[in-house]
Amino acid sequence: MSLEDITTRIAKAEQGAGRAAGSVTLIAVSKMQPDERVEAALAAGHRHFGENRVQEAAGKWPGFRDRFDGITLHLIGPLQTNKAREAMELADTIHSVDRPRLANTLARLAQELGRCPDLFVQVNTGEEPQKAGILPADADGFIAECVRLDLPLRGLMCIPPVDEEPSLHFALLAKIAARNGLSGLSMGMSGDFERAIALGATHVRVGSAIFGDRADA
Ligand SMILES: *Cc1c(COP(=O)(O)O)cnc(C)c1O
Repeated sequence: MSLEDITTRIAKAEQGAGRAAGSVTLIAVSKMQPDERVEAALAAGHRHFGENRVQEAAGKWPGFRDRFDGITLHLIGPLQTNKAREAMELADTIHSVDRPRLANTLARLAQELGRCPDLFVQVNTGEEPQKAGILPADADGFIAECVRLDLPLRGLMCIPPVDEEPSLHFALLAKIAARNGLSGLSMGMSGDFERAIALGATHVRVGSAIFGDRADA
């Protein structure tokens, strides 16, 4: 697999779903990847990247930003409140807003910094105890709270349970987003991004299918 193959598969999936060409943003998930693989994607012109740890992102992206223009950095992993300021300074989009305390902290920091990244609320569609995300039953209330805090909420994000058909989770996420008037859907990874696009994904987060196995795998 390569960036080009994935881009082609995304274009086919958009077409197959009757969606406009270019309606899906490919976030190349670069966590735990050697710098030269990331650099190759940058040199090929790719600009959307995802990281799941603030510390790792802080170690590599300022340097890449010095050398390549127009990078959009997405933070996709669980975010501790004590890392929120650094996350807001580093990232253009945060996909993992998942609890009231974090939403309050982001709102306070947004006032202080005079800016805020685009935000997605992470929903724990599989209601897995070990996984981050607001429970589906609490999603509408939490989204309303984020709106009340004036946070720039763009959409919802989910990570389906590994052993279940992801389409059911993608459909649930799309339904919650639609009834709350949110247009962004961050869903789909290496193994299931085409199914996510069929169900309305606007952002797919693909790591290993582009870059190969990670150091953690
Ligand atoms: C690592 C990660 C991905 C990418 O996973 P792949 O299976 O390598 O495509 C997507 N989303 C999140 C939240 C991740 O942590």
